[in-house]
Amino acid sequence: MKQEVGHFLSTRKRIYKGGKRHGNWKGGRSVLKSGHVLIEAPGHPHADSRGRVLEHVFVAAKALKKDLPERAVVHHHDGDPGNNDPTNLVVCEDQRYHMLLHKRQTAYRATGNPNAERCAYCRAWMLPDNPEFYRYVSPDQQDAREAWKRKTTVLAWHKGCRREYDNSRKEWRH
Ligand SMILES: [Zn+2]
Ligand SMILES: [Zn+2]
Repeated sequence: MKQEVGHFLSTRKRIYKGGKRHGNWKGGRSVLKSGHVLIEAPGHPHADSRGRVLEHVFVAAKALKKDLPERAVVHHHDGDPGNNDPTNLVVCEDQRYHMLLHKRQTAYRATGNPNAERCAYCRAWMLPDNPEFYRYVSPDQQDAREAWKRKTTVLAWHKGCRREYDNSRKEWRH
């Protein structure tokens, strides 16, 4: 999983000592309802008006040794928003990539294969090498890459499920 998606900040296991090792950490640490952690770091480029910054943003920027790219989203690999060990953080280029990562993680947990996708019709998991696997691309998005760029969803179907769906749509029109 690790090497396949996203960019881990560190693959070395480190002993994480909370905020204490952060450069301009001032001692305050509060956990939000969402489970994310705010720390006090006045002067940090992402600090709010009270000089607080999300710990995962702080840790990620520090590990990258530069500010995060503008649309970047920091992902928690183990799903725990309070685990801000650098080994648990993945910087995603944008929210769309972040969602792809979640989709692949869900697929991996459900089937053991991050490439598995759910049929848009029957919701069953299937792998792209399944002979029944069918990728629906509408005529105006023949190029999957173009569709990706235009942020349209390219759904996976069983061939049989797609036929059933198309037939049911024809019936509606009568
Ligand atoms: Zn995430
Ligand atoms: Zn299906």
